[in-house]
Amino acid sequence: MKRLRSILPLILALVATVLVACGGPNVAKAPPTYTPEKVAQLERYLTPVATARERMSELPDLLEKEDWVFVRNFIHGPLGQLRGSMSFISRNLLPKDQDTAARAADELFEHLDRIDLAAKDKNYPLAVQQYREAVKDFDTFLNLVPAEAS
Ligand code: ZN
Repeated sequence: MKRLRSILPLILALVATVLVACGGPNVAKAPPTYTPEKVAQLERYLTPVATARERMSELPDLLEKEDWVFVRNFIHGPLGQLRGSMSFISRNLLPKDQDTAARAADELFEHLDRIDLAAKDKNYPLAVQQYREAVKDFDTFLNLVPAEAS
């Protein structure tokens, strides 16, 4: 009994140290990470988006040929379907990346709208410039998606 009493303060001190280390307000929590379930879910939504990004490389050729009708069909067709998938992905990224992704997606659609308008006006320089901007925003978006999902 005597021995127990002498080590009790030591035990209490240890417990206090552990409590501070685990739950203390000064200790940063581990940043949130992607679970395998989340990655699988993101992957499903990413597939059409990644395909559309690949197909974006067909646009310069269409612009070069000034095939405006095709350009507009392309923007309203394959690229027009992306909004839903991209907003789902944005909302399911890590909290720190959500705003950047949502902004990049919004910008992408603004640039696509401008390409559409430029095509309507047969304005090649504007269409090409907006195409470059669209690709940049598209890649910003894709770079925020966890690599395991792509
Ligand atoms: Zn932009």
